[in-house]
Amino acid sequence: MSLKLFFLGLGLLVLAARLALDWLNLHHQQRHASELPPAFAGRIDARRLQRSREYSRAKGLLGLVEAASGGLLTLGFLFSGIFPGYDRLIGSMASGPISAGLLFFALLGLLQALLGLPFSLYRNFVLEARFGFNRMSFGLWCADLLKSLLVGGVLFVLLCGGALLLVQEFPQSWWLWVWGFWTLLSLFLLYLAPLLIEPLFYKMEPLHDRSLARQVRQLLGRVGLQAGKVLQVDASRRSGHSNAYFTGIGRVKRVVFFDTLLEQLTEKQVLAVLAHELGHWRCGHIRQRLLKGQLLVLAGCYGGFLLLQQQSLVGWFGLEQLGFAGQVLLLGWLAAQVGFFWTPVNSWWSRRQERQADRFAVELVGGGRELATALVSLARENLSQLHPHPLYSRVYASHPPLLERVAWLERQRA
Ligand SMILES: [Zn+2]
Repeated sequence: MSLKLFFLGLGLLVLAARLALDWLNLHHQQRHASELPPAFAGRIDARRLQRSREYSRAKGLLGLVEAASGGLLTLGFLFSGIFPGYDRLIGSMASGPISAGLLFFALLGLLQALLGLPFSLYRNFVLEARFGFNRMSFGLWCADLLKSLLVGGVLFVLLCGGALLLVQEFPQSWWLWVWGFWTLLSLFLLYLAPLLIEPLFYKMEPLHDRSLARQVRQLLGRVGLQAGKVLQVDASRRSGHSNAYFTGIGRVKRVVFFDTLLEQLTEKQVLAVLAHELGHWRCGHIRQRLLKGQLLVLAGCYGGFLLLQQQSLVGWFGLEQLGFAGQVLLLGWLAAQVGFFWTPVNSWWSRRQERQADRFAVELVGGGRELATALVSLARENLSQLHPHPLYSRVYASHPPLLERVAWLERQRA
């Protein structure tokens, strides 16, 4: 069996596994949708439960169609004559290796964005609208699209153009240079994004509620994070979904609450959610995630360098000749296939961090009751899935299953 056939088989296997997991989850969710766990009794009524079932079904089906079409198109592109043809076309259009690389990825990126448009339109204006979540006008959707193309374009030229230049200048050690360049740039962006990029899309403001803001400051003081910022974002301009997150390192640490979440929760519940987010900071999760990302990029750069030096990749895929960008694309695709088998480890690690942050929150606010009721309220308002398939959760879930999490929190008394 040729290696090309082996890779095609691997691609099909990974795609089939992803689709099977999606389908399994959808089916499981539909079968158990009408079961209301005891911790949720009296907090979610039968009508909500029915809505949540319909919502998961619609979302699940759309996800399946999107994953299947995207996966098949990618395989079709890579394993037919289209890919070497595209590579030759770019080679004939560009004047040098750097412009060839930029053009190669830019056109593919644009094509991918174009193919994603119908899904984005359907998701926002049909699916999310049907369940009362969409708040975006078509004008805002277009403005977002243009702005993200612009920001994406600038970042792409910086990241990709810079890397291609380094590859050309340091042919024997580019893996280290490219890694260093990307690391510096991403640290730089961590500081610059809140100043330059986020304001293009969102309005971040200090908490409007004075009494809440005072209690938030007290809580920050108790964990020694006076310098951290707690902000609210006008997420309600786009969607009714609610969330909160923690980001940044050093002097740009901040917790961001969606304004929708602040509307849905009581003051005590908001503080419990904040305590969980602070747990991520105190347990060093942000630093760990950054470090893990950097190590992964370093390993990827070095592995890619070794494989590209061998010059055997082109032959593996049954091709005669391929530009540098084409070879990088094949490498990226291979890494993504292998990376799929790494997903459960990644998710397990993330769930472990979420449990640590929950434990921290319980200790900080004295008991798990408020966080538990907050999670139930958020699940009700967001029509969240209550019954994901256990295998699906194992592979993908970044948080412990909601029922398990709420049950654990309810047991933690002051
Ligand atoms: Zn968390």
